[in-house]
Amino acid sequence: MIISFSSLLPLSEKSESFDIRYEGDVLSGHKVRRSDLFPLKVTHHEAHQMEIAGEGEIFLEYPCDRCLSPVEVRVPLQILRRFDTETLLDEELESVPFVLEESIDADLLITDEAMTVLPMKVLCKEDCKGICPKCGANLNDGPCSCGTEETPTRMAELLRKLQIPDN
Ligand SMILES: [Zn+2]
Ligand SMILES: [Zn+2]
Repeated sequence: MIISFSSLLPLSEKSESFDIRYEGDVLSGHKVRRSDLFPLKVTHHEAHQMEIAGEGEIFLEYPCDRCLSPVEVRVPLQILRRFDTETLLDEELESVPFVLEESIDADLLITDEAMTVLPMKVLCKEDCKGICPKCGANLNDGPCSCGTEETPTRMAELLRKLQIPDN
């Protein structure tokens, strides 16, 4: 979704509200589960000084860090950015990669904003038991047939006993 703010530029202290939403299916490698419209207020203060502000949210799907089950993560978006459209071609472009001349790419803006608040790791629940390293069973569904944790320990002990000493 591209919104143009060129109509605001001839006037000072002029604002316009645009309804934006993230339109992509994936954000930073995560499936987008829900993305609702939210208002973005675009203001031209004066002399190409722009300000954009809006609050929204987007829901992404993460794999649980331990058991890989899909988990819905709400990502809050609190947008408040200022930029000068005249100096964009220089150093500022890096900090506002979503501005294209006299318009804003809403998907790039939301991505840029979300990247600052995306969680690194997500668990389906705090005490997630994870998956069995042997058979891959989800241990939240109950113990797998590989047995308890004691078995591999006893087995390792037995193997150590059977080993011929080095000297
Ligand atoms: Zn989990
Ligand atoms: Zn197992």
